[in-house]
Amino acid sequence: MLLHRFFHQVSDQPYQPAIIDRQRRISYRELEDQSSRVASYLHNYGVGHDCRVAILLNKSIEAVVTILGVLKTGAAYIPLDPGAPVRRIASQLKNCEPRALFVNSTSPVLLHGLPYDALTTVIVGEPVQTANEGLEARVWDEVLSVSPGRIPGHIKGADTAYLLYTSGSTGEPKGVVISHAAARAFVNWSADVFDLGPSDLVSSHAPFHFDLSIFDLFASLSAGAQVVLVPREMSVFPASLAAFIRDQQIRVWYSVPTILSRLACQEELTPGLLRSLRLVLFAGEVLPSKDYLSLSRSLPDTKFFNLYGPTETNVCTYYQVTGAHLDEPIPIGRACPYAKVFVLKADGQLAQPGEQGELLVAGDSLLSGYWKLPSETRRVKLSQPPPSIPSTSPVYRTGDLVRLSADGNLVFLNRLDSMVKRHGYRIELGEIEFCLNGDPEIQEAAVLAVREDERAFTIEAFVVFARAESGDTRTVESIVRRTLPDYMLPDRVHLLGSLPRTSRGKVDREKLRKMAGNR
Ligand code: AMP
Repeated sequence: MLLHRFFHQVSDQPYQPAIIDRQRRISYRELEDQSSRVASYLHNYGVGHDCRVAILLNKSIEAVVTILGVLKTGAAYIPLDPGAPVRRIASQLKNCEPRALFVNSTSPVLLHGLPYDALTTVIVGEPVQTANEGLEARVWDEVLSVSPGRIPGHIKGADTAYLLYTSGSTGEPKGVVISHAAARAFVNWSADVFDLGPSDLVSSHAPFHFDLSIFDLFASLSAGAQVVLVPREMSVFPASLAAFIRDQQIRVWYSVPTILSRLACQEELTPGLLRSLRLVLFAGEVLPSKDYLSLSRSLPDTKFFNLYGPTETNVCTYYQVTGAHLDEPIPIGRACPYAKVFVLKADGQLAQPGEQGELLVAGDSLLSGYWKLPSETRRVKLSQPPPSIPSTSPVYRTGDLVRLSADGNLVFLNRLDSMVKRHGYRIELGEIEFCLNGDPEIQEAAVLAVREDERAFTIEAFVVFARAESGDTRTVESIVRRTLPDYMLPDRVHLLGSLPRTSRGKVDREKLRKMAGNR
């Protein structure tokens, strides 16, 4: 199971710091002890195999202890975004039906009332009055006072380890279910290939509801490394990021490229400033070559790796970045040893070097499926791969257009659908559209990503109000904010009397695109 190597580290080096959160730290032994108390507590409530536990906690030592505790019971953990609108959290909780919920005392869901009656709710922070009558809530200290008994039950590879929600175009929560075996394939490989060890301080920059956190937590803990939780404000005020990396002596950094691009712009970043940094890993988006060049000049002794993979496959290709890459994007590289990748052309044949097509992935790291969405699972996880693909196991259609280079490396080109990435966040434009169209004030709406140049785009919403006088741009903004996270807010709103249609009656998106260009 996913924690197998962690248990070895606990016996080999019990006093080594495991998690560092500003001035607080917790050793491997303490992490083991406290997470076993959480596991015992949950076990007393009947939490075990086939159960789910939702974690709505800010990034903290308590959140990590909870994650490990849940895994020890054999249940799956579901990290939710504590900063998401209450409506979104509510629909995710209803969707995943957790047996237990861990929540910060400051969470607005406690004031609004929990939409789902979990068997037990644990409040971390000051005890609070909740809106739910009869809610059986415990506080964190009570949980830690439970004796850390042995949890019976063997965890199998196919058991679910976690479920991560991503953006879905239908407006329904879309939970990606990942098994212990799938997570372990990536975790063990990455810990080995990047040679993680006790002397490594590894950044934990991504929120726990992002799949980048799987490396930060599990690869590090499996190798006896120290996980340094990066405070949220570091993303907001990147000027302090270089100082943070230097002061904390971070040796391994992993984040989305946006953060690295911001770091690359900092004047303080002089060669030698971040001497501790031996490895920079990035994933989730394309890192502009110019930012890589500027960073590599300031970090001459640091190795850079581009990791690629959707949440559904975890990282499945990787590339060590060397050289200039001025003519084309930094490649996403070749398959990790546990994955097989295929580039399928529009004619159904496999691409030859120099050709492009959709990237399909097979192997051990694939999702088990989407939670409660069997037809969506069947649509993208093909149990019978197309005839030209030499795989007997299921293949996942990434929806990413890639080119197979002559040297065998893959280069990411674009998406084949209307999903976009912004600052590492995955956004289905259809989800914004669904949210707008579901509001009674709005008659109809369409949402487009409009390219400004090769890298930059704006999200533009075209909205027809049911009563023209009833809405303006701010109304649209507040409708989106009620349901969707801030990063999904359209950059521009166009108020129209009606949406243009093609001769077949469909919304004429090309016309809308032109309208956006003519503004
Ligand atoms: P997510 O599920 O949030 O990780 O988003 C997955 C999508 O992000 C992929 O399908 C790609 O479109 C994009 N992506 C992930 N890693 C990379 C990368 N290294 N370079 C370019 N795009 C990436």
